[in-house]
Amino acid sequence: MKQEDLDRLIYRPVCSTNEIERILDIKTADDYLLKFRADIIVDNMRLMRVVMNARRAHPNNWSLNKYFSNNNFENVIKKLPSNLRDKCNQITFGNIFSTDPNGILLKSEFGPISTLCNSLYYFLKFMHLGLLDLDDKVPFDIRMNAFRIAIRVMLKTEALDFTMDPRGIIPKSILDKIEEPIPYQLEFIAGHELGHFILDHLSSTKSSKKSVLRSVNKDEPDYKLSKVYNISQKHEFEADLASLNLPEFSYDEQKIRTSAALIWFACLDIFEAVRDTIYPPMGYQTHPPARDRYLNIIENSSLYKEFDTNYWKEQLIEMIDFFRNKFIEEVTLNIDSYEMYGSAYLAAPNTLWRGPELIDREDYY
Ligand SMILES: [Zn+2]
Repeated sequence: MKQEDLDRLIYRPVCSTNEIERILDIKTADDYLLKFRADIIVDNMRLMRVVMNARRAHPNNWSLNKYFSNNNFENVIKKLPSNLRDKCNQITFGNIFSTDPNGILLKSEFGPISTLCNSLYYFLKFMHLGLLDLDDKVPFDIRMNAFRIAIRVMLKTEALDFTMDPRGIIPKSILDKIEEPIPYQLEFIAGHELGHFILDHLSSTKSSKKSVLRSVNKDEPDYKLSKVYNISQKHEFEADLASLNLPEFSYDEQKIRTSAALIWFACLDIFEAVRDTIYPPMGYQTHPPARDRYLNIIENSSLYKEFDTNYWKEQLIEMIDFFRNKFIEEVTLNIDSYEMYGSAYLAAPNTLWRGPELIDREDYY
């Protein structure tokens, strides 16, 4: 069989016929992004199952591109002044499966491509269940388990199959509260990537190879090494502020978005405590620590004066430090529970927060 026909077979479970032809003959950055999206999936059995499952609901008009959203980027671009909006026409963007908590800026021969990972939603949802003030309706052990799930998502050891196996039952009133900041946070992250592009951080920047999805099997190489831009830490701070300041948000919108961004960095701060315990940082770090980015926003946001400083500068930081210390201790004693690939849950089977145990390939496929 010719290589091309073999490739057609490989992509067939997740792409439409038209999409397969585009992947085999890349002519634009959109084609490049499509192939990037597809390659990550066909290399990963669990993701294959997630996408094939979604495809069953659209037997006649399936499109892999439509499966992924571009909304987080589009919503930010819509709010930019027209000259910046025009500039953003040069960049191609959209969500992918990846486990990089930040967005990624890829270098392609067809121009820059910016991506956001689909699993960020799950990271944020479970982090919020642990961190946010939910009127004491969430028991402490459930909060701890929620943090564990979120941390594992970002450590790339949690299976990304939440649509089939949701990990527990979250009451609707609580779900609404923990989901509320997520769109603003995803748009903040998309705005950060667009900010790099608008502020010309890419022109002077070198690129290097980086993986977007860590391999499950330690003997295998990480998935999808891609060329990504290395951006200086100073530029990272600038892009964070650009994400909040460049779009023309109303006063109320900006206030909501600033607190959502601060909560995002609070979540990232807790995750980084675990990551840095397991993988002590060595040499150059692509992004500054979340705490510095949190403080950068506090110190430089025009709206911050109006915020409850007692909450943001003391109470929340105290809470972050409390959980950071808890998880540093836990991961030091029990690293296996973070390194083992699989699924973690909010509670034991047949309890209020879990419901009956779902059996793989019996209750979901
Ligand atoms: Zn950045």
